[in-house]
Amino acid sequence: ERLLSAAFRPEDGEGEHTLRPRRLQDFIGQEKIKESLSIFISAARERGEVLDHVLLFGPPGLGKTTLAGIIASELGVGIRITSGPAVERPGDLAAILTNLTQGDVLFIDEIHRLSRPVEEILYPAMEDFALDIVIGKGPGARSLRLDLPRFTLIGATTRAGLLTSPLRDRFGVICRLEYYGVDELVQIISRSARILGIPVEREGAVEIARRSRGTPRVANRLLRRVRDYAQVRAGGMITRAVAVRALQFLEVDPLGLDHTDRRLLQIIIEKFNGGPVGLETLAAAAGEEAGTLEDVFEPYLLQMGLLARTPRGRVATPAAYRHLGLPLKQDPVQ
Ligand code: ATP
Repeated sequence: ERLLSAAFRPEDGEGEHTLRPRRLQDFIGQEKIKESLSIFISAARERGEVLDHVLLFGPPGLGKTTLAGIIASELGVGIRITSGPAVERPGDLAAILTNLTQGDVLFIDEIHRLSRPVEEILYPAMEDFALDIVIGKGPGARSLRLDLPRFTLIGATTRAGLLTSPLRDRFGVICRLEYYGVDELVQIISRSARILGIPVEREGAVEIARRSRGTPRVANRLLRRVRDYAQVRAGGMITRAVAVRALQFLEVDPLGLDHTDRRLLQIIIEKFNGGPVGLETLAAAAGEEAGTLEDVFEPYLLQMGLLARTPRGRVATPAAYRHLGLPLKQDPVQ
């Protein structure tokens, strides 16, 4: 497991509930989403109706669970949290739905991982707030419709394209979360430092923000590790110099790449002459699974312009050569 992974690690749980913003106004960044949500939430509240179903999509660690919690508190309703893989059978989902209270938010993380039979229970539940139950088998089977409390489904997924279209079409509000800018991450780090009582200078926060891969979860994790270093090796205060030393010690480079990211770029450059190289071939050379490369490693390298996708495969960009300090032997194909 990597220090820079955007996925949840057990150490992230420490103080997590205190770090999570509870109101829309405390949620930093994602301005467009905040504006739309605040309009839809106010409108639903004024009309005394439930909020339309909301789909949140974007890379892990950008605040989908946090936003779902905020939507529930802004609506003044309860929230029930589950995930695609946790809802194994249609009966599991039926039990959750029938236990909701009128107006509740049901948050399903990794909603693209629901099985087909479970997903089919969800369609009438989302559309008509009803549950269709089949009693008996064969020619004598009868269908029974149960009314459910009205609720708001909030689904989260890393990519909207992973959803089946009948499911995607049933969401009234679709929000795409973007990676955070350095300024926003500085605000998130400063806020977390204040809550956790960590002394940090602005320039120290900037150094951490730059290497946090646009991801609040990574920013909060790096803040905690840099705090440890500052405490033991530097008298506690996270200044710029202390942050730089700590991050070097943690092997996080100035662009927020770790050993594996750099190795991937190096393989493309040294083994495949900069590319293009097909995903499967690259995965085999790196000893990783193609899916892991695509979901875990590529998004940030693409975002940073170090890697490009072409119809013929992956290419290391001139910025990648520069970052690794390798000579551009020939013009890499763009
Ligand atoms: P995953 O999909 O992997 O569960 P997520 O997108 O649901 O990730 P969260 O768990 O909501 O991410 O957020 C990760 C951490 O980052 C949380 O501790 C949260 O407090 C913090 N965080 C996320 N977004 C923000 C934000 N905009 N402002 C302040 N803190 C944030």
